[in-house]
Amino acid sequence: MADYIFNVARLLAQTSGSRRTVDVKAPPDVLNVPEVIAAVRGVAQLTRLSDAILVTGQMRALVRVPCARCMDDLELQLDIELDDEFVPGIDPARGGTVDPGDRWLLDRGHNLDLSPVLAEAAISELPPRVVCPGQCQRPLIDRPATSPAIDPRLAPLERLRRQMLHQDGESHG
Ligand SMILES: [Zn+2]
Repeated sequence: MADYIFNVARLLAQTSGSRRTVDVKAPPDVLNVPEVIAAVRGVAQLTRLSDAILVTGQMRALVRVPCARCMDDLELQLDIELDDEFVPGIDPARGGTVDPGDRWLLDRGHNLDLSPVLAEAAISELPPRVVCPGQCQRPLIDRPATSPAIDPRLAPLERLRRQMLHQDGESHG
């Protein structure tokens, strides 16, 4: 079984408080979050609650996002804290399907799939705006040639140059 899907049938048969520790490794292609570029890894605890399985633990994700200033790619490490509950899809006592509310559903075989949890967590941990460390404005020479605007730092020099040309013209005319 994949390192992000865990069968919890045995844990469900145990008493509340029973716990199991699992190594998690979810490759980027199952998460379907374009920014995630390496497997999300960590150690999770699966704890039997009275009516659910609680998943806690620390995960680490490597993401690639563009710098808000220069648009160069930046790689960041995100720390993801898991605190999620999974419930069986079928009510064990009364039968019938369970409304999970804000919890996650186990499948019919009591498999706990962490991939949607990790995907959601990675997306919510993505910083809204990141910039390169230090000064990352591109140098003047790298600016697109289509930009007609004069760099503000050069404007006084440009004025001076025009003034000198003007005076030159007068003295000779
Ligand atoms: Zn930058």
